[in-house]
Amino acid sequence: MKISLLNFKFFYCVNHVDKKYPLQLESYITDPLDENECFEGFLMCPQCRKKFPIIDGVAIIISDIVKYASKRVSTFGKWFSNSKSVEMKTFLKNLSLDIDKNHQMEDRY
Ligand SMILES: [Zn+2]
Repeated sequence: MKISLLNFKFFYCVNHVDKKYPLQLESYITDPLDENECFEGFLMCPQCRKKFPIIDGVAIIISDIVKYASKRVSTFGKWFSNSKSVEMKTFLKNLSLDIDKNHQMEDRY
């Protein structure tokens, strides 16, 4: 799903079931042909400060992104190679550290 700067307000944080918090958009890269389309950035929850990445114009709104990415290594690799901004690379690098930790935990039990 493409993220338009005009329609992103329809996204809500997945961490709150009863109360819906509209996510705030932090856009780093917009489509050069359409500045209303966000290519890369974050949707942030004003309540719990959780960040949902937007990579290659697709919002990844998943409550447990570490678990998701650790089961889909090739998807994660695609995110990393598609990401362009320093902010996103840093976010994904930190995520990969969490994925490693997650794997170690699973090995232990
Ligand atoms: Zn939240």
